[in-house]
Amino acid sequence: MAGRANQGIVWLSAIALLFPGAASLAVGNDSVRPEVAGDFPVASDVRLAGDLKQTRFILDLDKKIDIHAFLLTDPYRAVIDIPQVSFRLANKAGEAGRGLIKAFRYGLVMPGGSRIVFDLAGPAKIEKAYVLDAANGQPSRLVVELEAVDRAAFNRLLTRSSNPEPAKDADSSGPVADKPASLTGLADGRLVVVLDPGHGGIDNGTQASTGEAEKDLVLAFAVALRDRIEQGGKFRVVMTRTDDTFIPLAERVRVARNKGAALFVSIHADALPRHEGDARGATIYTLSDRASDREAERLAEAENKADAIGGVDLTEEPTEVADILIDLAQRETRTFSNRFAQLLMSEMKISTRMHKHPLKSAGFRVLKAPDVPSVLVELGYVSNKADLRQMTSEEWRSKTVRSVAKAVETFLAKRTVSVAPTDPK
Ligand SMILES: [Zn+2]
Repeated sequence: MAGRANQGIVWLSAIALLFPGAASLAVGNDSVRPEVAGDFPVASDVRLAGDLKQTRFILDLDKKIDIHAFLLTDPYRAVIDIPQVSFRLANKAGEAGRGLIKAFRYGLVMPGGSRIVFDLAGPAKIEKAYVLDAANGQPSRLVVELEAVDRAAFNRLLTRSSNPEPAKDADSSGPVADKPASLTGLADGRLVVVLDPGHGGIDNGTQASTGEAEKDLVLAFAVALRDRIEQGGKFRVVMTRTDDTFIPLAERVRVARNKGAALFVSIHADALPRHEGDARGATIYTLSDRASDREAERLAEAENKADAIGGVDLTEEPTEVADILIDLAQRETRTFSNRFAQLLMSEMKISTRMHKHPLKSAGFRVLKAPDVPSVLVELGYVSNKADLRQMTSEEWRSKTVRSVAKAVETFLAKRTVSVAPTDPK
């Protein structure tokens, strides 16, 4: 313990060295301090200390905040929920860990709420998590102290104290199955398409070596696609996110079902690890219980990890959605999903390069609404230079958006004729 106390002192002096001007930040508290970016607290620096037995995380803040800490398992994670914070940390902050913290991520998980997720090297407990007042020339600091424990102790902690509050969106997690589509989606007579830009907030998705994140590329594409479809005026568009917010997979499915969507399109961008060679082109995925090939299996596994990345535990999700078995998906829904996938491919190949096997299937969690035809489009590979150049080009985006919009409109137009707005059950 003495060693630990020493460590603390070393830290405090290190902070003083790093922040010679900290005193002027701290005085004056709430008086005239020029604020930027919507008055959110600003996190300006982060440090890790310690070893595999004890690890400390320190985040410098410009004001005190409330925190809520809890643990998650499979994989071992510690999560700190905080009010919305502007993170102004170094670019690669969190990628390299130390001691019990393998890596950490941070970002927005909902409007007004940010989150820090630690990937742990093994079972550990949150020995302490607190926020220090600005004092003695130091800024406010969020401090998390982790201590290694054995697996049994970790599991006890999980069941006893850390019954995490699910993300706030779970408030709306009441039964959705019995909400007839005709009451929501079709209220104004127009069919609804739900566009689902993948990832967001704390979850970047794939990332190009030059820094472009999947979450930004797919959001830009989805927004342009929404505008295009809405211009047509025939169909309504609902987005699962319109900003850089993390949305759990089950919530995306819930949006599609609650809105009585006639179509759900999840938009992503893939990446291939360097050692697996180079791949390029767009791929369209539908749901199946058995992956069509290894590549599809790898991808579904990666995409299904989004919840773990965002610090959402599958067990927190209402079982009604989490337990939906693929077998229960209505045959008709699958037929429609495949029909749309075909249609989408024939339109997309006019405007963009397709993968050599452009139609695949695998067990994507986000495609599991049993009553909403759903596809997942990988626009291309951020790991491929040519694909990345396309995906960041305005010209490519607008012509590809046109093709996707055309496929959506053709598909929905047929459904309008043949499907009366009835209760899906
Ligand atoms: Zn993705």
